Amino acid sequence: MWLSALPFLCLIFPDSAKMSGQTFVLKQIISEVEEEFFKDRAVPTDWDQTIALIGTIHQSINDPKRLERLVSGWSKPRALKDAQKSLDTREIGNDQLKVDNMAQALEFYNQAVLWGPMQGPQNYLLPLALANRSLVLMRMKQFHLAVRDMTMAIESGYPKENKYKLFQRMAKCYASIEDAANAMKCHEKLKESLVSESNLPRKSIQDILQESNNLILNVKRTRKAQSFLDLTSNQTIPEEDPLTISKPHKTISRAHGSVRIQYNDVRGRFVEASKDIDVGELIIRDSPVVHYINPVNSTKNCYACGTNANAPVPCQTCANTAFCSVECRTKANATSHVYDCGLALPDIFWKQKATGSGFATLIGMTLKVSTQQKAGFFTKNGFKAFNAPDLNADPSSKDPTLKNYDIFFNMASHVDPSNFGETLGVALILWKWLDSQGYFQNILPSDLEPFQDQRRNPKVFFTVLLFHFYSVIQSNNHTVQEIGKIDMTAEKFTVGSAVYPHVASIFNHNCDPNTSPIQVGLDQLTFASRVIHQGEEISHIYQAHFGNTPKAKRQEILQSMFHFVCSCEACAEDYPLAQSLPQSFAELGLDPELDRKYEECNLRIQDALEMPGSALKMLELYSERTRLVCKHLKRPHMFYLSSRAAITDCLWVMFGNKSQGLEGHSLQGIYL
Ligand SMILES: [Zn+2]
Ligand SMILES: [Zn+2]
Ligand SMILES: [Zn+2]
Repeated sequence: MWLSALPFLCLIFPDSAKMSGQTFVLKQIISEVEEEFFKDRAVPTDWDQTIALIGTIHQSINDPKRLERLVSGWSKPRALKDAQKSLDTREIGNDQLKVDNMAQALEFYNQAVLWGPMQGPQNYLLPLALANRSLVLMRMKQFHLAVRDMTMAIESGYPKENKYKLFQRMAKCYASIEDAANAMKCHEKLKESLVSESNLPRKSIQDILQESNNLILNVKRTRKAQSFLDLTSNQTIPEEDPLTISKPHKTISRAHGSVRIQYNDVRGRFVEASKDIDVGELIIRDSPVVHYINPVNSTKNCYACGTNANAPVPCQTCANTAFCSVECRTKANATSHVYDCGLALPDIFWKQKATGSGFATLIGMTLKVSTQQKAGFFTKNGFKAFNAPDLNADPSSKDPTLKNYDIFFNMASHVDPSNFGETLGVALILWKWLDSQGYFQNILPSDLEPFQDQRRNPKVFFTVLLFHFYSVIQSNNHTVQEIGKIDMTAEKFTVGSAVYPHVASIFNHNCDPNTSPIQVGLDQLTFASRVIHQGEEISHIYQAHFGNTPKAKRQEILQSMFHFVCSCEACAEDYPLAQSLPQSFAELGLDPELDRKYEECNLRIQDALEMPGSALKMLELYSERTRLVCKHLKRPHMFYLSSRAAITDCLWVMFGNKSQGLEGHSLQGIYL
């Protein structure tokens, strides 16, 4: 099958062969698989043909070890710890600490922690990195994280004779947050360690204990109820929790009561307002079926919960994956991370000079959506819930034990001929990888007996499922974002991808959407970005806004990525780009008094901007301005665009995900 030995060697030993420019190893492997198993076969046009083809391919794999060799041949440096790198980065961290550059010191200690081996002769490097990082965290007043790091340092074998230093530091941390009880406990451990583990002379021991004693006496004297740890922003949060739906929908989980699902032949399924919905109202809050942190952020954001981990907890095995806490690590290591730890997908991205982030993320999600459940979950529910996808199936799950996987399964039904080979390659590679990792052990083959096709064979069943999951993820993934800093201002960054089952199955695309989505943790919250009138369709935007992308380009993007011809109003009436839109009321022959009112609103917004913690006030003012726009103007108009941008940013500032260290940065910089 191989034309020459070179491409073969290139696959097995990617390091040994010369890569041409930006060649992407994973893509290359997948196209080789595609070439070998799919070439000269007709592209299936429907679901049944796809199953039949995958069945035939499984019968024709005559060297079952070869797929496995392809996967295990990837060069995966970050799948392994690296003592030298841990040592080097810790030294740079030490230098930064000496010159009081805390942010840089933290960054390098983070790397030292991630690279530090947990086993083998150099396993002393990890506790040293953790202990040094705890010092930086303490100086940054992140006392809980500092204590956690010291606890991990001790558990992972910090040198016995120096342990007293950590107990001393822990007591100081607890004293700083006026937690006298825990400070006292650390003082007791300090005493014990000084006497039985340290090599210090008696005089030094007495001095240290005396100092620690004084510290605790001080805490007891000045103890206040107030916690020093609350470093969160001082935004005023309204009394009624705006992130929960007050009058929820009867069947769609966490959706506004005033939405209604409709069907027609032209648009398929869509959702409309059954009553007027005001600007700023929460329409739906959705949790993802699966999410994946992209390679650029895999050492910063928590693999399990997505949180920006200021001081990540390392994976025990790979150097690629960050967790925000020991709890998140335990959770991930009981399920999906077992299977992507050794595969080290982000490595492929780093190895290829940081290209292919999207591809690695899609594959990571396909793997994760499978492995966060046990294989038996799919076989047990296979015939009932994962038989044939149906785009028009009810988007509200009837069976909570399916964890919205039934909705997820029904989110794509077409077989995309242009992408068929790649999808098949991904499915085969992932199936083989999971097989080699023992994922399919313990399934009951009899669960698959109700199938009347080749899916009675578990190999075919799971390859079909992986094939389909990859298709669903390709056309239904949303970005997961957070606000991070650039110099002195703040901006939204993409940190990963997620699939939101309800959002994706009820909202259609519109090039002029009437909603603003924001991210709170891993949840996506969709708010009304203007007044949505009864009977009006509620829409999201998948890609390409009419304000900055001409119609022909939009149609091209939507067709190639999502396989539909957009017929929204902006497309039907060919709205002009933003720069050609009207910019006032008077321009359209309306009462100039309206422009005066609009300007007055803007002045009040300017005033509110000057006040700290003013996001709620800003949201009220922007909503008021938006109502004025909605009442008097027809779309398209520049005021609609600026209103949506402002509402979106306000909501982000108030509730959206934020990275660490934004204090002192002008969040207002993101207002448009
Ligand atoms: Zn977490
Ligand atoms: Zn790992
Ligand atoms: Zn459109």
